[in-house]
Amino acid sequence: METGWIGCDACATAQALYLVKLIGGELYFCGHHYNKNKEALDKQSFEVIELNKIEEVPTLEKAE
Ligand SMILES: [Zn+2]
Repeated sequence: METGWIGCDACATAQALYLVKLIGGELYFCGHHYNKNKEALDKQSFEVIELNKIEEVPTLEKAE
């Protein structure tokens, strides 16, 4: 096992940011592939776990 680095199951080159739990098993996805498959995953998964949020820091500024 590598130390904490989990590759995306779809591309294997990006670090997985999401662990998607399905009835039949688990899948790891990078942000790109999670978003790409999100509609299908929403129907099949019962839980989605965010592994880390380094790349997606919410920096929304209110325009008001
Ligand atoms: Zn990927």
